[in-house]
Amino acid sequence: MTTQPRARKQVLQEVNPFEMAQRQFDRVADLIGLNEDARQILRQPLREFRFQIPVRMDDGRLQVFIGYRVQHNDARGPAKGGIRFHKAETLDTIRALAMWMTWKTAVVDIPLGGGKGGVAVDPASLSRRELEALCRGWIDQIWRNIGPRIDVPAPDVGTTPQMMGWMMDEYSKLAGEYTPGVITGKPVEGGGSPGRAEATGFGVVYQIREAMKRLGLDPKQSTASIQGFGNVGQHVALAFTDPDILGGRVVSVSYWDREDRTAYTVTRPEGIDPRELIGITDEFGSIDKREAQRRGYLIEDGMAWLRKEVDVLVPAALEAQITKHTVKLISPKVKILAEGANGPTTPEADRELEARGILVIPDFLCNAGGVVVSYFEGVQNEMNYYWDRKEVLERLDRILTRSFHEVFQVAEEGGFYPRDAAYVLAIDRVVKAMQMRGWI
Ligand code: NAD
Repeated sequence: MTTQPRARKQVLQEVNPFEMAQRQFDRVADLIGLNEDARQILRQPLREFRFQIPVRMDDGRLQVFIGYRVQHNDARGPAKGGIRFHKAETLDTIRALAMWMTWKTAVVDIPLGGGKGGVAVDPASLSRRELEALCRGWIDQIWRNIGPRIDVPAPDVGTTPQMMGWMMDEYSKLAGEYTPGVITGKPVEGGGSPGRAEATGFGVVYQIREAMKRLGLDPKQSTASIQGFGNVGQHVALAFTDPDILGGRVVSVSYWDREDRTAYTVTRPEGIDPRELIGITDEFGSIDKREAQRRGYLIEDGMAWLRKEVDVLVPAALEAQITKHTVKLISPKVKILAEGANGPTTPEADRELEARGILVIPDFLCNAGGVVVSYFEGVQNEMNYYWDRKEVLERLDRILTRSFHEVFQVAEEGGFYPRDAAYVLAIDRVVKAMQMRGWI
């Protein structure tokens, strides 16, 4: 039984995310009787780029990295999606993520399409100068095929606001004009939007709050357990425990220990202190477990987060974590599964969650906060006028709260599983845009 934590490379050998994304799409296409023309276009990306990025390394060697950009669909607006630097990145992971971006922008109804990019590299293995050369090299190869009206990248796993700053600078040099809107997730001092760093995690919690209203749960009495303690996991923990947002208790967070090359769960039954743990976590989301232990936290195995008797589980690490095997570890007490990560649940596990009546907030709705604030960043760049953090987060909350209830209304009216309902809504919007443009 596969219940041990696995590295992403191993996960990707077992589950091909693009096949998973296509299976989810096919299921809903069958449910709603989608016509063949729309299916043909939407099952595959519109455009795919694979390119070499030669980088002169610090020791004088030339190393050739492989970069990707996939534009799944741009019927509703420019393609939009992050760039990942991860050593297990493949064209198929990028295709899946690009496809999910199309549904994500459509389900929250912002005027953008779906894309994704990446490089198969462990960013922690490069020096700062090598990383900058790689970021600039990525732009040098693809700059003619991206732009504020074509395709707008952003950070994702393994990439940072600083890297977006270098990429924006490189594009602006090549284009011959300052073009902040070519990329989002930039540092706030360099055309970024306040609120972008916390947007995804806070957005997850805004929707957990709405789910609790539907289920009649008291947020102040609620508990959660989180997988992953990077950008998303940390901000979920902060918002979940913030009395002005939700005011619940987070009992566990898990993470991938870079030293031991395995995952652990850090637990404190009376509630973790997210700020304290963030203070002892590195920039890649790896917690200093000795220090955590010294401060009274319990260190458990990497799957312990999933076995906790809590109200809410938040996978916020990787794809394919909740499988037909691991789904059996989930306690009967769990009422909400809020998917902070992209693609954390396999289709087989979905059937089990559905049978058990767990309220699933599906990934491309649940973690859409990042892309919504990325969209706000592009809007502010175009206006050359910037909102403050409070305004950004209020606008974000309004969009996500509306989208959450739209999806759950479709689910109720059509008797759909929430993931299927989110697909129904998203596919319908993309198909209407393609029809309006005369593509089908
Ligand atoms: P990150 O790199 O900042 O953090 C990832 C975290 O997951 C780290 O704490 C890492 O230690 C942990 N991790 C890795 N493997 C693990 C394992 N086997 N078990 C437990 N923990 C493990 O990444 P992030 O930006 O927080 O993204 C997390 C997920 O959320 C990804 O699926 C990403 O695509 C998705 N997402 C991110 C954003 C965003 O704005 N950052 C937006 C939408 C979706």
